[in-house]
Amino acid sequence: MRDDNCIFCKIANGMIPSETIYEDDMFRVILDLGPASRGHALILPKQHYKDICDLEEETAKKVLPLAAKIGSAMKNSLGCAGFNVVQNNGKEAGQTVFHFHVHLIPCYEEGPVMV
Ligand code: 5GP
Ligand code: ZN
Repeated sequence: MRDDNCIFCKIANGMIPSETIYEDDMFRVILDLGPASRGHALILPKQHYKDICDLEEETAKKVLPLAAKIGSAMKNSLGCAGFNVVQNNGKEAGQTVFHFHVHLIPCYEEGPVMV
């Protein structure tokens, strides 16, 4: 199911161009437009789920292994020392786009690196 009014549905399904770093049949991983650090990425399912409570089991089962895979790749490609996995649910929790997504935020030894 997709939502015609949802920007992440459009990005995830290639209707709006994005800086894609990974894609498979269920997910697209893009660079965040307002990064918290260099290489900040977002895992977007291609189907529309508004938050973690709305996720289907098949998607839920795949999203953490994908976060681990992309995070490991970030360590090699960006040289980050670690990474945060962040996922907001609800306006009060900081969610601003109501299409489930997972933030992958690289952390560098020297502290936040923006470019
Ligand atoms: P949330 O606050 O909902 O957890 O995270 C939404 C994230 O999406 C924010 O970090 C914001 O910078 C990012 N974002 C919002 N709109 C766009 C967009 O059109 N393209 C990309 N690449 N990122 C976006
Ligand atoms: Zn959506």
